[in-house]
Amino acid sequence: MSTSGLPSPDDDFPAWYVEVVRRAELAEHGPSRGSMIIRPHGYAIWELTQRALDDRFKATGHENLYFPLLIPMGLLSKEADHVEGFEPQVAVVTRGGGEELEEPLAIRPSSESIIWNTYRRWVQSYRDLPLLYNQWANVMRWELRPRLFLRTTEFLWQEGHTAHATSDEAMAEALRMLDVYRQVAEDVLAIPVFPGRKSPGERFPGAVETFTIEGLMRDAKALQCGTSHFLGQNFGRAYDVTFLDADGHQEHAWGTSWGFSTRMVGATIMAHGDAAGLRLPPAVAPIQVVIVPIYRSDDERASVLATADGLRADLATAGIRVRLDDRDQHRPGYKFAEWELKGVPVRVELGPRDVAAGRAVLVSRLGGDREEVALADVATGMVGRLADIQAALFADAIAFRNANSHQITSFDAFATGLDEGGGFWTGAWCGNEECEAEISARTKATIRFLPIEPREPGSACMHCGRPGVDTATWARAY
Ligand SMILES: [Zn+2]
Repeated sequence: MSTSGLPSPDDDFPAWYVEVVRRAELAEHGPSRGSMIIRPHGYAIWELTQRALDDRFKATGHENLYFPLLIPMGLLSKEADHVEGFEPQVAVVTRGGGEELEEPLAIRPSSESIIWNTYRRWVQSYRDLPLLYNQWANVMRWELRPRLFLRTTEFLWQEGHTAHATSDEAMAEALRMLDVYRQVAEDVLAIPVFPGRKSPGERFPGAVETFTIEGLMRDAKALQCGTSHFLGQNFGRAYDVTFLDADGHQEHAWGTSWGFSTRMVGATIMAHGDAAGLRLPPAVAPIQVVIVPIYRSDDERASVLATADGLRADLATAGIRVRLDDRDQHRPGYKFAEWELKGVPVRVELGPRDVAAGRAVLVSRLGGDREEVALADVATGMVGRLADIQAALFADAIAFRNANSHQITSFDAFATGLDEGGGFWTGAWCGNEECEAEISARTKATIRFLPIEPREPGSACMHCGRPGVDTATWARAY
């Protein structure tokens, strides 16, 4: 236990994570197995992430729409790989209105089926394409080993579903949205990610290619941060979405889908947190600056609070999310610890002597360094100060990720290295799925990604010795 009362993240990362989520009031378990109650501090992080994504979706030409939660089972079953892949995770409604339903209704695990079934009516000609749509929704996937934010039975996400006239267009869209995810992960959540392509065994059910961005958490385990799928004509065929091309030929539409979920709140906790709790990137910190007034007598209280409130107004006018913590029932030391736990990037301390001297003390959540700043300069300098903190968190995460990314020199070095320190491991792979499964069984690691364009390693598979056909990056993952 540290002074924060949290388990040490170095000794017991899973216990640290559970306690941070609970004590920082981010989320808790709901009454049904695997469900999650997202509390205001956690939901506000999600809302800021949502806004960053949504702005970028609109800027790349997408519109939002909404489809129903319940999907007739017959519809879900039309794309064979899709239904087979989701079968173990689908929850089904069999009763309604007090009676058995004639056709059971699946609670959406993802919405390709219902959306492509509708696209059939919306697409007739190449002039109707592309369809560039996104929906913000909840989905349900039955989880046997739930974990708040990372794996819950119901979660919030967005799912983009696009239809195109050509394969090239659909592929370009899938990669464009992968890059939007990379931008949000890196520029907003300050989590460095590797973009890549999944091995066939790790593909989304029904996809021709699945692209991914992969991040590394502070326990050196990987986390899939977002995926974008090139669906080929699989859903166009299964749901009979056809169009007449410019030459009058009947063609099946090409598709993509892409999703980014509340698991990224979990990623933000695990990529940046420390022994004192959360360290939130300013871009998604619900409170970017907290002002903690310090006083003893009523006279001191009145003068300190008046100055503190002026400072709060200045910061708010500068566009900063600021809270003045004027609760009388808690002492300053208690407040410091609480806001550290909740990850507020900058704390402003203001006491009677500071007010008299026309200054405040600024404390960064990153290094804990203290700096005296003239009151008149606090608000004007804050935007830059927050940008510096955002950049420093990202640089810190990159340094950690790079220090934990390795080239595989031999299978044994890889297996031992994983046991000792986790991390990403990159080496030659033969492309054989049985070999992939054997490596996973022996190391508990999975292929996190292959390069977006296959890259011949020029050496033999690190496990079976057959010729290497691609370069795979492995890790133990959430
Ligand atoms: Zn092999």
